[in-house]
Amino acid sequence: MPISEGLYERACRVIPGGVNSPVRAFRRLERAPFFVEKAQGAHLTDTNGREYVDYVGTWGPAILGHAPHVVVQAVQTAAQRGLSFGAPTLQEVEMAETVCRMVPSIQKVRMTNSGTEATMSAVRLARGYTGRSLIVKFAGCYHGHSDSLLVAAGSGALTHGEPDSAGVPRELAVLTLVLPFNDTPALERAFAQRGSEIAGVIVEPYPGNAGFYLPRPGYLERMRELTATYGALLIFDEVMTGFRISSSGVQGKLDITPDLTTLGKIIGGGLPVGAFGGRREIMDCISPLGPVYQAGTLSGNPLAMAAGLAQLRELESTCAWDRLEVLGARLEEGVRAALHDLNLPFVFKRSGSMFCLHFTSCDVVDLRSAQSADFAKFKPYFLSLLEQGIFIAPSPYETGFISTAHTEEDIDATVQAMRRALKLLT
Ligand SMILES: *Cc1c(COP(=O)(O)O)cnc(C)c1O
Repeated sequence: MPISEGLYERACRVIPGGVNSPVRAFRRLERAPFFVEKAQGAHLTDTNGREYVDYVGTWGPAILGHAPHVVVQAVQTAAQRGLSFGAPTLQEVEMAETVCRMVPSIQKVRMTNSGTEATMSAVRLARGYTGRSLIVKFAGCYHGHSDSLLVAAGSGALTHGEPDSAGVPRELAVLTLVLPFNDTPALERAFAQRGSEIAGVIVEPYPGNAGFYLPRPGYLERMRELTATYGALLIFDEVMTGFRISSSGVQGKLDITPDLTTLGKIIGGGLPVGAFGGRREIMDCISPLGPVYQAGTLSGNPLAMAAGLAQLRELESTCAWDRLEVLGARLEEGVRAALHDLNLPFVFKRSGSMFCLHFTSCDVVDLRSAQSADFAKFKPYFLSLLEQGIFIAPSPYETGFISTAHTEEDIDATVQAMRRALKLLT
């Protein structure tokens, strides 16, 4: 028996669904996930010795590919000095200085252990700073699994048909107002009706958790105006897009200044890290300076800081975003040509190294249009790619990630594999 299948049975006996995060399961695909033995660069090897070109990239962090030498070396060096201290270190100061320099809207920053912690803390801070309770979020945007934000969320919650989670009290959910993304009149109405109750608006400026799609021109700018007018905080959740869409995320690319920003994924270089930061007077409301409590035994962990700093420095010193755009454009050109040649009407969305093929013919601008994707078409496409040694996320509602470790040859081979997979649908 292949090792992976035996492992899956063992895993299912002692781990719910056999996985530690639901998106890793292949449940809707009705097959067991493979188990990873190791990964290097753009390639993963499973426990049966099969190799895959990887576009999951550990769901975002692996922007330099897997186990980049500079990051592994930094972690090894840090480990020799100790694994955790519970007292401040130079590396935490360097990380905060680096984040504040790269993302100018951030004047002060706090490190956390995950993106979920970062968004949960940013929401608490917005409520504490404004003295208001209502949070606005957008259908299909995923901000981690904290109670206030697990309402009409994307990602795994969507794949498994659980837009709301059991265990989130209705009394709490009513404090989260959910609006459709890209709908300016809906946003204007919400502020006209309840503007004085709104503590903050949290948004993925480029949503990447219900597939990948983009804001209409002017939409985020109007969101900035309305939040400022009504005294609500604008929170950009750049856990996925931060350090990926540009050195300063989507906010740098679009030149929009949010009040608070949440970060994760890339900032940890593959180790568990998140961060939230923003305007000085808002951040100074956090304990021990202010009344908003937030803490973490392992926050700012020295190994995690070493990994994240090494990754950010490598990205900056190599101008990685230019290279990622070249690779992304090459993939896009290949996929578009394949769709054209096979006369398939599917929608392809991309910015830099983030991409998604939507199995629908209607333009994707929000959750509703993303959900028009045909799962019956995604399934054979995914399984064919896997068979051909290409690993994309096992769900049509996820974003693909290119890394600097991908080569032109990897991209061209992927396009050929995608063409063969798409041909099965004609
Ligand atoms: C992944 C993600 C999160 C949650 O981060 P975790 O580290 O998984 O807790 C929050 N927001 C966005 C936009 C994400 O993509």
